[in-house]
Order: sequence, then structure tokens, then C-alpha cells
Amino acid sequence: MKAYDGMYIGGAWRPAAGPDVIEVVNPADEQVIATVPAGTVEDVDAAVRAARTALPAWAATPPAERAARLAALRDVLAARQEEIAETVTAELGAPLKLSGTVHAGVPVAVAGSYAELAATYAFEERVGNSTVLHEPVGVVGAITPWNYPLHQIVAKAAPALAAGCTLVVKPAEDTPLVARLFAEAVHEAGIPAGVVNLVTGLGPVAGQVLAEHQDVDLVSFTGSTAVGRRIGAIATGMVKKVALELGGKSANVVLPSADLARAVNVGVANVMSNSGQTCSAWTRMLVHRDRYDEAVELAAAAAAKYGDRIGPVVSARQRDRVRGYIEKGLAEGARLAAGGPEAPREKGFYVSPTVFADVTPEMTIAQEEIFGPVLSVLRYDDEDDALRIANGTVYGLAGAVWAGDETEAVAFARRMDTGQVDINGGRFNPLAPFGGYKQSGVGRELGAHGLSEYLQTKSLQF
Ligand code: NAP
Ligand code: MG
Repeated sequence: MKAYDGMYIGGAWRPAAGPDVIEVVNPADEQVIATVPAGTVEDVDAAVRAARTALPAWAATPPAERAARLAALRDVLAARQEEIAETVTAELGAPLKLSGTVHAGVPVAVAGSYAELAATYAFEERVGNSTVLHEPVGVVGAITPWNYPLHQIVAKAAPALAAGCTLVVKPAEDTPLVARLFAEAVHEAGIPAGVVNLVTGLGPVAGQVLAEHQDVDLVSFTGSTAVGRRIGAIATGMVKKVALELGGKSANVVLPSADLARAVNVGVANVMSNSGQTCSAWTRMLVHRDRYDEAVELAAAAAAKYGDRIGPVVSARQRDRVRGYIEKGLAEGARLAAGGPEAPREKGFYVSPTVFADVTPEMTIAQEEIFGPVLSVLRYDDEDDALRIANGTVYGLAGAVWAGDETEAVAFARRMDTGQVDINGGRFNPLAPFGGYKQSGVGRELGAHGLSEYLQTKSLQF
């Protein structure tokens, strides 16, 4: 067990102001692996002051130099990939292979994409007799969740740095260790003192103080819709900019002409990956009634194959929450095709890969975000019915469409109220804007769209 006592503020590791600590638990064996300080108002205040002090010089640093620091950060993240993967496995529970390819790998790609964007982005443009300057918004408060703990930090920090902003990061209490590694990487990359600061702590304490801080210009939050709504209200009340990446209940629409086995297998893998803890997961599979029974059978078989290969969920609290939803699904009349609420192992916060059949659109398991390895398979009568079901939640983060030909799938995707749709199993693109329609959020992350969230415009007329 390691007891860390510092927080990265103003370019150095400083002891926390208060005595409280957070225990970090390995969800695979329930052992406490480390403690980190629980930041208080004094720590947040010191971090925001450091970010404010560093702002003028970083904002005035030429974009090419900011790009060079981001390239150095990418290189450090790449060099430390193994250590990052092991840390994510220890505190999140993800299998080591997933930690390496996704949790450690994607942040390298995203940091690299912003090194390039910082060097090439038009921070100035001519519009008629005006010059429009795209200037940094200022000090950013970044509040992040545990499910993709490094990715979600880098998806905020990299564009903020490219834009010329400085920031304070408050990572999730369940996954502070990879956030500490990120701060070490920032230091090693030669990013100036105070440009990036890290305060570990509890959401309702450190997170809330950060969101409410009068010297924070933009709050960028990823997490639950419940907390996002509060943060949005605080930020709007103080006339701050706000970006919210919230929950989802995305639809995987299998049109009658699709390759059913492929659509179902990829769909199940999408839900079970990261133990179902992916905000953009396609947790509702929509299948035409004529192919429904076959699809359920395929999905159950695919889920059973995952049996021992998925990791635990992040915490006892999440395990209980997910099991509660499985019980609710049964109580509301859905039929178990695979998995169930029973604990598959004695130790660790494991949940069985679960597939529900005979799910109707109004059931709780078809409406609310479960955030566990649970798939609901729903039946539709025709395309309009499928669209009604796909669009029939408060969320609109992601989705998928499968069809015999791309044109048919794209025509359906155009009618979906959602921020991104994968066509016939399209690949993740770190340059494509990511974010939600409806209650899935405000703003976009990644690529040039993600960069523009951290910029504000000034027009000079000639
Ligand atoms: P959460 O409570 O929304 O946590 C996200 C971040 O916000 C964490 O850093 C959290 O700190 C912080 N936070 C919590 N309360 C806050 C407050 N009052 N003011 C400011 N910051 C605050 O999410 P969670 O508890 O980790 O998970 C709950 C559910 O949220 C999940 O089951 C899932 O449905 C959803 N979720 C969605 C995403 C996504 O990517 N869309 C990610 C994670 C979770 P603490 O870590 O200390 O709580
Ligand atoms: Mg929480």
C-alpha cells in the first residue's frame, strides 16, 4: 500500500492542506492499494491561483511552442504506456490488454492529435473588414469520471493546452492514481509550472468548490447527468462557459438487411467491453421481429463467451447499482437470456455479462443508464417503429446502424437524435467530434470541435 501525500500545484507536489485521505481499492480483489489526499477548499484555491498566475504567459506562448510541449507530452505518455496500463488495471479493474490498447493507447493518439492541431489551427482569420482572433477562454476546471480515467483527462487537458488555457483537474475519487501519472507526465514534458494542476478529492467537496470558483472561466465536466445538471446550473448562474459530457442509452439498430451475426457480435462486444462502463455503449439492441429470436440466441451465446474475460466493475457501489437494475428488469417482466444478478465470483466487484430479451421501450432497463455489462434486446415492427424506439429516451450520445448497404444505414442514421453513429461497425476516430444531443450533454470533445470549446473570439474591425 502506498500513501501519497502530495497534489500537483504550481509545478510541484505539495502536501494537502487537510488531513483527510481517499482509499483507492482494487476492484478485482477488494484490497486497498493506496491512499491519496482528499483536497479541500484551500487546495482548490491554491491550484486555481497557480493556474491564473500561469495563464498570461501560456496564452501568449506561440502555438508552435504549445504544440511542441503537447508533442513532448504525447511522447512521455507513450513511453510510460505500460505503467499507465498497470495502474488503470489496478484501480479500475480493466483487463491488462484493454488497459494497454485503450486506456493507455487512446490518450497517446489524442495528445498527438492536439500537438498537430495546435501547430496548424487558424487562431486568426479574416472576415470582411475584420480580423477574428480565437483566444483562450482562460482558467479551466476539469472534472472527470473513472470509466476511461486517463482518456477523459487528456480529452480535456490536450485541447485546453492547445488553446492556451491553463487548468485544474479534479479526477474521480475511484481512479486518482492514473491522474497522478498524468501530472508526472506533464512535468516531464516541460509544460510550465501552474499550467496544469491536479487536486484529488471528493466530488461534492473539491469538485463543487472548483465548479463554483469565481476565478474559473470554463467548467468542463464528464460524468453523470445528475451531477452535470447541477454543474451546468452553477456555471450558468455565474455566467461561466460550461461543457458537459453526460450519460447515454444508445441504440444499436439492426435493419432487416444487415448481416445479423456480425451486428450482434460487435454489438455485444461493444456493451461488454470495459465491463459495460462506457457512456457511449450501445446498451439497447433493436432487432426486427422476424429475426428477433435468432438475434437473442446469438447475443446470449456471445455474452456467455465473455463470462470470465471481463473485469469487475469499479466499486461495490457500482456493482450494487448494476445488480439493482438487473433485478428491476426481472421485476418489470424482461426475460434473462444470459447472466443475471448473482455474483459470479466470491471476491471482487464482478457482474455476469447479462442479456435481457422481451424488453419493451418503457421499461427502466431500456430508459436508464445502467453502466454495467447489461444488454437489452428490443423488438421493432418496421423502420419507423425502430426510429421511435431509438429516439425514445432522454439521451442522445451515440448509436449504431447496420444494413445491407451503407446508403440505407446512413439514411436511418440521419434521422437519429444522437451525436455519433457507427455505420456497419465503423472504427473510432479520435478526430471526430464526440458529444451528446438532448440530455447527453453540451459541447463536443476531440478534434478541432473539441479545441473550439476552449476558445473565445475577439473581432478587430479595420
Ligand atoms: P459522477 O458522480 O457524475 O462523477 C463524475 C465526476 O464528478 C467525479 O470526479 C465526481 O467526483 C465529480 N462529482 C461528483 N459530485 C460532484 C459535485 N456535486 N460537484 C462537482 N463534482 C462532482 O459519476 P459517478 O458517481 O462516478 O458515477 C455515477 C453514474 O454516472 C454512473 O453509474 C454512470 O451512469 C454515470 N457516469 C457517466 C459517465 C460518462 O462518461 N458519461 C462517466 C462516469 C459515470 P467523485 O469521484 O468523488 O464522485
Ligand atoms: Mg460520484
